[in-house]
Parts: sequence; C-alpha cells; structure tokens
Amino acid sequence: MPELPEAETIVRGLRPRIVGSTMATMEVVHADVLTCPPEAFRERVSGHAIEGVGRRGKNVVIRLAGGGVVVVNLGMTGRLFPLASGEPPPVEASHPAVLFRFREGNTLLFDDTRRFGRVEHLNPSEWRERSRALGPEPLERRFSVARLGEGLSTSRAPIRSWLLDQRRVAGIGNIYANEALHRAGVDPRRAAGSLDPSEIRRLHRSIRSVLREAIEAGGTTIRDFRGADGVRGEFVRDLAVYGKQSEPCPRCRTVIRRVVFGGRSAFLCPRCQPAADGVGSD
Ligand SMILES: [Zn+2]
Repeated sequence: MPELPEAETIVRGLRPRIVGSTMATMEVVHADVLTCPPEAFRERVSGHAIEGVGRRGKNVVIRLAGGGVVVVNLGMTGRLFPLASGEPPPVEASHPAVLFRFREGNTLLFDDTRRFGRVEHLNPSEWRERSRALGPEPLERRFSVARLGEGLSTSRAPIRSWLLDQRRVAGIGNIYANEALHRAGVDPRRAAGSLDPSEIRRLHRSIRSVLREAIEAGGTTIRDFRGADGVRGEFVRDLAVYGKQSEPCPRCRTVIRRVVFGGRSAFLCPRCQPAADGVGSD
C-alpha cells in the first residue's frame, strides 16, 4: 500500500508532465473510485489548468487554477500514469478507472486493480478542512520532538498503531512504522505513552531518516507500486524488518519475529527492540 515516500515519488514524477496542462474532458471507466457522479465531477474540473502537484500524507494533491483540488488516494493498488499525446497506456495499466484528457493532448490515467483508491474534487474550504483533520507532515519542521512527545504522552495505544493513525502524523503506514521502530530500538507493541525522552528522540530521528531514504530510493515496491515513470521503488532492498520474519536482523543477526495485533502484522528484532511493560514476553 503506497505510503508517504511512494506518494512523494509519484508527485515528483507527475509534476513535470502535467503542471500547466488544462483539463478538457474526463473519461470514467469505473465511477466507484469517484465520490460524486461523473457528470458533476467533470463539470467541476473541466476548463481548469493544473497549477501544481503536491502531497499531503499518502494523498496526491493536484491543484487547479481557481482554487479547487483533485485529491487522489491511491488505496491499495492505485497508480497514476501521465501519458504524452498519442502515447498508449503501458501494458501494466490493465485496470483503467479514470482518464483526465488535457487540451494539450496529454492524458493522466488513474489505474486501480482493486479499486480501493479514491479520486475526488474538493473546493478550497473543503480541502482546508480535510487537511486540518490530518496530523503534521513528518518531514516538516512543525513535526518536532516536543510535538511527537506531547502526542505520545497521553496515549495508551501500541506505538505502531499510534504511528498508523493519520490524525496523529500523516503519511506513515505499516512498512515505515515498522522500519522506524526497528531503527529506534522500540518494540511496536509498547504503549505510546511509555516511551522515555531518549526513545522519543530516537523515534523522531528514525521516522525522518527512513522516510527520507525511501524517497531517495523512489519508494518501496513490494508488488504493485510504480513511480509515475513506471520505475519500481528500490527501498525494498533496504528494508530491515518489514516482511523479513525468520531472516536475521541486519544489525545483530537475531531472527526477526512477526507478531499480529490491531489486525496487521508487525515485524521486530527481539534483541534490538526489547519488550517492555511485560508485552511479548512469551
Ligand atoms: Zn537486531
């Protein structure tokens, strides 16, 4: 499932290909990825030029002239392909859901095999409200050690669940939560409020370093993810624990364990991430 680094990789690939293009028409193959009827959507976007492409959390945000935005949540398998005029969709785009046709002849294709993705148009106030409901961007200055510590202090949720909560911090999913916790030496099952100041500092630093390195590597491709240029995310080679159960920890060679809680797998090194407050002592 695409997380912050994958969305950022897509944004960087799209920017030079679609900024400045003007929405002409929209072809809807599967209306279930839209949050309003296709006709209403078409009316809201057509004639508007694309002013910029950005990201908020795991969402790709396409800014239109006039103030509205098209927000794309990639869900599990959503992909965005910018196509030049006359360029056919790549073979891997086998489940097209929506095609934005631009006046300049180019196209932006949203393809989604499992169709958990969402494409919606929001006016400026709707977008402000949506964005406000999300936590801070972990790579921005606003996300400080103090702010992280404050947020953690009152929570009894497992730290991994806290990190996945988009209202707490935006953009982190299961891959990078597990990787950051391993780097920080914190067991994913620990209560968020039980981390001491040095653990909070280490976690803050680990979240940022793992996200930055993953962006640098073009994200992580487990199966479906591709950047806007069709390239696989190479951070998969740098994963220390995610999906590595029964393999040795790259730091201490202890065998990585997989545990399931909150309906999701967590991966940890029992030596680098010692259990505290009695969890996981089985
Ligand atoms: Zn280890």
